[in-house]
Amino acid sequence: MDLTIALEKLDELQKKMYAYGAANSALYLDSVTVAPKDTSEGRGVAMGILAGEEHKLFASPETGELLDCLESNRDKLDARQARQTELLRRSYTQLSRIPADEYMEYAMLTNEASDVWHRAKEQNDFELFRPVLEKLVAFNRKFAGYYDSTKAPYDALLNEYERGMTMEKLDAFFAALREKIVPVIRAVGEKPQIDDGFLHKHYPVEIQRKFSDYLMEVMGLDRAHCGIGETEHPFTLNFNSQDVRITTHYVEDSLAESMYSVVHEGGHALYERGVDPQNDYTVLAGGVSMGIHESQSRFYENLIGRSRPFVHAIFPRIRAFFPEQLKDVDAEMFYRAVNKAQPSLIRTEADELTYSLHIMVRYEIEKQLIGGTLAVGDIPAEWNRLYKEYLGIDVPDDKRGCLQDSHWSGGSFGYFPSYALGSAYGAQMLRNMEKDVDVWGSVGKGDLSPVTAWLREKVHQYGSLLEPAQIVENACGVFDPTVYTDYLTEKYSELYGL
Ligand code: ZN
Repeated sequence: MDLTIALEKLDELQKKMYAYGAANSALYLDSVTVAPKDTSEGRGVAMGILAGEEHKLFASPETGELLDCLESNRDKLDARQARQTELLRRSYTQLSRIPADEYMEYAMLTNEASDVWHRAKEQNDFELFRPVLEKLVAFNRKFAGYYDSTKAPYDALLNEYERGMTMEKLDAFFAALREKIVPVIRAVGEKPQIDDGFLHKHYPVEIQRKFSDYLMEVMGLDRAHCGIGETEHPFTLNFNSQDVRITTHYVEDSLAESMYSVVHEGGHALYERGVDPQNDYTVLAGGVSMGIHESQSRFYENLIGRSRPFVHAIFPRIRAFFPEQLKDVDAEMFYRAVNKAQPSLIRTEADELTYSLHIMVRYEIEKQLIGGTLAVGDIPAEWNRLYKEYLGIDVPDDKRGCLQDSHWSGGSFGYFPSYALGSAYGAQMLRNMEKDVDVWGSVGKGDLSPVTAWLREKVHQYGSLLEPAQIVENACGVFDPTVYTDYLTEKYSELYGL
């Protein structure tokens, strides 16, 4: 094949893949935001067929020939074309090992599972979810072998979310967190607790919606290119760098819940919006890994959003939205309230200090599930045991226990560690950013643009052009979790007077 033709075909293939991805994303976005409750069946059929067609297109012998041709002309490719070829080869090798019928069956299973999980959680009935979760675990154990049969199954899945990540690295990372963070949590527990009662007054949803608009404005999210929707479990979805959607969940008696969802998802959205548009409609579009993505979302949510300078800067506006609810509150009280630390049941509502321990529970369970040493039926008991061991709390029911997160129903095993890793990456990015930029001078004036500009240069612009490890090296230097644990120790020692 002539190289000019091969490059045209490369372009055409990636655009078609983009189209399938966009169609699937649109159906997904609809299903979890505005679609009526009992409509998943027909959507499942459509999504199954789309997944099957995409698989046929991508796993075809023609794609193999195209990649062979591009690889034999490697020295004539530019950096983008070379990286596209590399990433496509990686997926091709993996995907072509998954039989088309299994791939389609799995796509339909995850659609069904999402529905079953919703009902099981609503009815607090793990047994309802168990059969479908067993199938998901079995599929993932099998897929792990297709991805990389030389690795332990869970390592193969981890590698899908964060290339190069292994149980060995994560065991060491979590051990370091446990050693440094657990004593701080214990010490905080012995101090008088911060009063956050005013965050739980009545905050009408229609005003919270306007408040979300304001937060997106502060973050510099251009509303002509970034929409906001409402869902049960907030997430961000990118069609391309010019069309990104965030979602939030409003709770009338909890102001911080949606507020920090918007800032978190806004962080994901800024990453996607910052990717060089040259990468659109190719496999280089979009954030490179879940760990890097979470480093951005959690950066805005916690390192910036829960910082004293940021809270003090925006507090006058917050009070203008909710004058009655916050009439006896000042900026410092608000800052302390949104940083209240207390072991709790729900991961998404956890504070910055205890958050990583929620991740550790899920990591331990996934490791055993995929490793084959824990049966699905034993998840609730193991979950409750680990919450007691790490966080010192009793789990009253599965609804607030092992049924709380959607990840497993979507077939995501190996995703959770990204949240903790991302937090640790973020702390290192902040320390490096402080050397280049007057971070707190700007944030204290409510101006996040120098922060976003720094992240855009070091992280966002690349999309998937670089490996996650290269991004970490660019923005963090040598990965060192003690930067994160030191940050948490200092922040909470000051807050609680330890
Ligand atoms: Zn996130």
